[in-house]
Amino acid sequence: MNFEYYMPTKLFFGPGSLEKLGTEKLPGKKALIVISAGNSMKKYGYLDRVKALLEKNNTEYCVFDKIMPNPIKAHVMEGAQMARDNGCDFVIGLGGGSSIDSAKSIAIMATNEGDYWNYIYGGSGKGKPIPNKPLPIIAITTTAGTGTESDPWTVITKEDTGEKIGLGYEFTFPYFSIIDPELMTSIPPHLTAYQGFDALFHSTEGYISNKANLMSDIFALKAIELLGKYLPRAVKNGEDLEARSMVAFANTLAGIVESTSTCTSEHAIEHSLSGLYPELPHGAGLIMISLEYYKVFADKVPDRFVKMAKALGKQDARKPSDFVDLLAELQANCGVDNLKMSDYGIKKDDLPRITKHAFDTMGQLFENDRYKLSEAETLGILEKAYK
Ligand SMILES: [Zn+2]
Repeated sequence: MNFEYYMPTKLFFGPGSLEKLGTEKLPGKKALIVISAGNSMKKYGYLDRVKALLEKNNTEYCVFDKIMPNPIKAHVMEGAQMARDNGCDFVIGLGGGSSIDSAKSIAIMATNEGDYWNYIYGGSGKGKPIPNKPLPIIAITTTAGTGTESDPWTVITKEDTGEKIGLGYEFTFPYFSIIDPELMTSIPPHLTAYQGFDALFHSTEGYISNKANLMSDIFALKAIELLGKYLPRAVKNGEDLEARSMVAFANTLAGIVESTSTCTSEHAIEHSLSGLYPELPHGAGLIMISLEYYKVFADKVPDRFVKMAKALGKQDARKPSDFVDLLAELQANCGVDNLKMSDYGIKKDDLPRITKHAFDTMGQLFENDRYKLSEAETLGILEKAYK
């Protein structure tokens, strides 16, 4: 029955809410705007709009535009140096989870000495406490997947070792976040699906985690319900603003689930895959392993699986396996039921190394499972999921 609830981020939600950047009190005088190396923020005019709104709000800025889909430590260090060199006193992450997560990590390293990995728990991280408070962070999300706008988490890969590890604490919650579904209408269908399933799994994992509680359950079940109902619509017609808004809302709820409950070993296994194979999008990796993963847990947490099946729309669900069937159906409806690890160069022979890497780097997530997976069972999930 016990839980802690801490969600200090002010959220501006809804179509047109980007305009708030021009009128709200900002946490500094000069922003480092962090965006991806791709050109979508420029092509769709989002970067220009953000610049214009900052100017309207009498705020200076500079732009760091190198972030990759699986963001790396080198760019965190480089972005932090740029923030220091230019006297930036807050950081704006504009884009998807990779840009916003990078903004959070840059905010830490702009005020702290040494190497980012000194502050990472797990793998080769040194696990040191972070001495100085990070710069304030503003999150402007143009995707609906990671929930990073409403949670403290940032996930960065150490590129030389393929360790992909999360970090988050009370000072990495954004100062405020803007969730404007109008900025999401340009996301192509396959990415909409990958990101939507990431949000779904933050919710389902948070719901079956042994850290689930009265508060996180409310957010998790609502997010599962909304994603089941609206994600296929958002995938099929990106301009469907109602579907985009509901998926965005579900994603924000899923971020609160991540803040009040936890992810489980599904995320540890996926971080190992996309840490070692950075071309693999996180959401796609999760989809690839999900059916085999949830099959293992269906009988371990039966009541919660029945409730998740009901949330996905099957009111008369009775069996835990109903959830797995509905998950497969949802993946087919979103056109992501045939993703293959082999398409990303992952070899079957490499699965034992991937399994070991999951335990070595994000072993703590296995502690959140209600049933403790062995390395052999984890390898079994990957082998059955392999195509
Ligand atoms: Zn995720």
